Amino acid sequence: MTLPTSASPNHDDLRSALRALCAGFAPEYHRKHAQDGTYPSEFIDALTRDGWLAAMIPESYGGAGLGLTEASVIMEEINRGGGNAGHCHGQMYNMGTLLRHGSDAQKARYLPDIASGKLRLQSMAVTEPTTGTDTTKIKTTARRDGDRYVINGQKVWISRLEHSDLMILLARTTPLAEVKKKSHGMSIFIVELSKALGQGMDILPIRNMVGHETHEVFFDNLEIPAENLIGEEGMGFRYILDGLNAERTLIAAECIGDGYWFLEHAADYANERVVFDRPIGQNQGVSFPLARAYVNVEAANLMRFEACRRFDAQEDCGAQANMAKLLSADASWEAANACLQTHGGFGFAEEYDIERKFRETRLYQVAPISTNLILSYVAEHVLGLPRSF
Ligand SMILES: Cc1cc2nc3c(=O)[nH]c(=O)nc-3n(C[C@H](O)[C@H](O)[C@H](O)COP(=O)(O)OP(=O)(O)OC[C@H]3O[C@@H](n4cnc5c(N)ncnc54)[C@H](O)[C@@H]3O)c2cc1C
Repeated sequence: MTLPTSASPNHDDLRSALRALCAGFAPEYHRKHAQDGTYPSEFIDALTRDGWLAAMIPESYGGAGLGLTEASVIMEEINRGGGNAGHCHGQMYNMGTLLRHGSDAQKARYLPDIASGKLRLQSMAVTEPTTGTDTTKIKTTARRDGDRYVINGQKVWISRLEHSDLMILLARTTPLAEVKKKSHGMSIFIVELSKALGQGMDILPIRNMVGHETHEVFFDNLEIPAENLIGEEGMGFRYILDGLNAERTLIAAECIGDGYWFLEHAADYANERVVFDRPIGQNQGVSFPLARAYVNVEAANLMRFEACRRFDAQEDCGAQANMAKLLSADASWEAANACLQTHGGFGFAEEYDIERKFRETRLYQVAPISTNLILSYVAEHVLGLPRSF
């Protein structure tokens, strides 16, 4: 069953093309990679070859020149089609940072090769083991030394490093004690991974419940050219917020895709499965949780499109991106639970894919930002309540 959605019909062509691509990768394909903990390279290659991962690159650099709205539809369709956009979403939100804050020289150097698929920009390194969400306390430093920056420190949970050529790195360039505002004194850099790995940057994989390719990262006097600084030194936190808002909105769209996937599978099963001589969906104890989950996915979807609209119009979208992420992650999790419950014991069988999607969508209560931290943002920045930390 394909459920109706409140999405704009403007993207019907885009959705049809993506659905055709996704249909070429059967559920067994995604299941096998999830079971083996391997990267779905053929799927990501197909998305790259057809230009989907270059959607946001301007046409002048060889991309499609589309906005975050369209990028979010691409991510949604991957998840709705049974895949996991977590394997490639980095390319979309990292792009936003480079496009908005990179120099003309940086764009000319990287964007055409990213658009053609020669280079991949899949990784962003923000999180650190000892500071967690308290990002302004990061301890990774970048010290200017002539025409280079020297990087020291540690990151954790840095995803897709083995399937990326470039990484955006957030590091402190001025010690916290020397800045007026704690969000000042941090900078972002482009790291070319082939020149960094084993030459001051080492990585260790972290096995995890969602088969996400992610690593611990150690920097020991890694040298990167000063020209790889993005924007102005010390202003990196402001720049990275654009990337984080894009990331939250895209992941909201992935949750929406998951939500529809769960509800489409649950509705099919509730119509087909007969127990006590009637389809289980005839019992309101089964149908009401599904109906409620659908209402919540639809409502979250509207906020996701509002966040996209504001981002694309270069309006402030912090509140909407955060709210879209919270609503969508909650709605997909509710849909996941309702879908699992509807399938009874079969929901736990790997061949139904529900337990896999259930685990995958659970991640978004925590990453890329946890639910509590979103509530804290809304309390402080929207409701004007005292800062709690
Ligand atoms: C699979 C995976 C992939 C990831 N990929 C990347 C990546 O590519 N790049 C990257 O930079 N990061 C990545 N992350 C990191 C992710 O963004 C963080 O895990 C997330 O932001 C939460 O940070 P933390 O784990 O340090 O939790 P902490 O900050 O330690 O928080 C732990 C818990 O305490 C709660 N908490 C903390 N402080 C407060 C407070 N003041 N009020 C209320 N509650 C609070 C939080 O909500 C959370 O539930 C990834 C994580 C995972 C699991």
